[in-house]
Amino acid sequence: MNQLQGESVVNQQTTYTVLQSLGWNEYFSKLFAAYAEQGYHVGRITLEHKRIYRLLSEYGELLGEVTGKLRFEATGREDFPAVGDWVVIKPRPEEQKASIHTILPRKSKFSRKLAGDTVEEQIVAANVDTVFLVNALNNDFNIRRMERYLILAWESGATPVIVLSKADLCEDLDARMAEVESIAIGVPIHVVSAAQGEGLDQLEPYLGVGNTIALIGSSGVGKSTLINTLSGTDMLRVNGVRGGDDRGRHTTTHRELVQLPSGALMIDTPGMRELQLLEADEGFRGAFDDVDSIVEACRFNDCQHAKEPGCAVRTALADGSLEQARFDSYLKLQRELAYVARKENERLAANEKAKWKKISMDLRQRKPKR
Ligand code: GDP
Ligand code: ZN
Repeated sequence: MNQLQGESVVNQQTTYTVLQSLGWNEYFSKLFAAYAEQGYHVGRITLEHKRIYRLLSEYGELLGEVTGKLRFEATGREDFPAVGDWVVIKPRPEEQKASIHTILPRKSKFSRKLAGDTVEEQIVAANVDTVFLVNALNNDFNIRRMERYLILAWESGATPVIVLSKADLCEDLDARMAEVESIAIGVPIHVVSAAQGEGLDQLEPYLGVGNTIALIGSSGVGKSTLINTLSGTDMLRVNGVRGGDDRGRHTTTHRELVQLPSGALMIDTPGMRELQLLEADEGFRGAFDDVDSIVEACRFNDCQHAKEPGCAVRTALADGSLEQARFDSYLKLQRELAYVARKENERLAANEKAKWKKISMDLRQRKPKR
């Protein structure tokens, strides 16, 4: 039963238990003590959209808005709440709203550095406890890439766990394992096959109540498959139905921090997915060198690999020198990179607009010198 929805839970459970099921622990409790004395409450951010937030709290789900003070004091994007953050709130349960006063210090964070006039930091996931570094055991397996993910994980403050996926496609498991062990000393390594449902029970220890997990890994390694498996068919139910009453309708409510049937919390934000893709853009493109060179051999630069004459891709697919699955992964990566680039442009445009707005406001407010 989903106990986090509805006001009645406050009577049934202590606040602490409700918060614990959302990932609350002593660490945050200590940080919050001073605020508690002043009558504040806490909530955990499950979604951010244009600086409007969804959060879960002892009052169930609330819509959050940052206070003017928080906005005024923010020096950059990292000072605004991100998915996974614990925020200090003044709830208005009757309106299902809350004002967000401040963010409790993050225990861990994944961020992207955004280059602009100044380097800004965009938090893509906060307070992740365990991060699964997913690497596939097929042709995409790449030990250097794994090293980079490990660095990313260590830097985040989350505890890395290596998940080697698609075990069913691997013929030399022992050799692969030895390779991974050599670069990941002390890091747990689990071999799974979502396709065959094997090895998944090894992940159970990380899926306990209140533990926050996230997945990183390049496109096509099987993250979505794993997420679906972990969340099971219960996902929709857990993700929003209130027991019995009409407000149970928001089953389709979108959240980027969700509770798994096991009681663990999973963060899956577009930013987390982009994180690796930007890396892919910088250095991991090499993973698709073979496909790139085939594409370059097409007669037309803008070949869509559909009906164009002289299309090297269709030839390679036909003669088997390029696997359809590999080409699909390639296309998926291309689409995702295009998406990231588009988002980045939108963001830059929005920033520019905000900057000018601020400048013109500053000018208006400027008082003449005496
Ligand atoms: P993502 O891009 O990391 O989210 O990867 P997906 O979950 O979309 O998986 C990419 C492809 O790999 C899909 O066609 C999946 O069906 C396939 N796949 C995922 N897990 C396994 C597995 O354990 N074994 C095999 N053979 N294929 C898998
Ligand atoms: Zn082509």
